[in-house]
Amino acid sequence: MLVVVVGPMFAGKTTELIRRVERQVIAGRRAIVFKPSLDARYDASKVAAHNGLKFDAYVVPPDETGVEAIYKLGFEYDVVAVDEIQFFPPSLAEVLDALASHRVVIAAGLNLDFRGEPFETTMRAMAYADKVVSLTAVCKTCGRPATRTQRLIDGRPAPRDSPRILIGGGETYEARCRRHHLVPK
Ligand code: ADP
Ligand code: MG
Repeated sequence: MLVVVVGPMFAGKTTELIRRVERQVIAGRRAIVFKPSLDARYDASKVAAHNGLKFDAYVVPPDETGVEAIYKLGFEYDVVAVDEIQFFPPSLAEVLDALASHRVVIAAGLNLDFRGEPFETTMRAMAYADKVVSLTAVCKTCGRPATRTQRLIDGRPAPRDSPRILIGGGETYEARCRRHHLVPK
């Protein structure tokens, strides 16, 4: 069983991943949660949601060695969760699919980058998913459902040629709806 949780930043993806893992643990299933090493925003050894919720995580590099580690270690558990899947190479999707034939796999990732372009690994994982949980945040501009992530540099929308990956929290990113998501030039 593969569940993929998608949406913009602040949509509650990590909260939902932790919720799904915790209920499996309460039912006595052995679970492991992976996260990529570059996302050390809050606590290096935990997956942390923006609302303070945390769960112990196994940190792996966001490259082919990390994907291999998820495959090998994941086999030892009943439940395998991976947060921030967009940072891993697309080959992670095949690993999630392979693990999912005999265990519960829960993956969470960003739908779109700051330019509004799909993250390959998330797209690919969604294609293999038995269930896609699509979450929205609240648009910081108008309060309507937000499906996109606005990057801000000194409070202004980041230009299109800014790098794809830039780790940041509430000072760098805002949830926005389609109408208020801006990508200048
Ligand atoms: P994600 O993993 O999708 O980034 P988290 O699970 O870490 O999301 O955090 C979700 C929490 O973020 C919400 O419960 C809320 O407390 C907070 N939050 C901050 N900004 C927003 C916003 N614009 N819309 C909704 N929730 C927000
Ligand atoms: Mg998250």
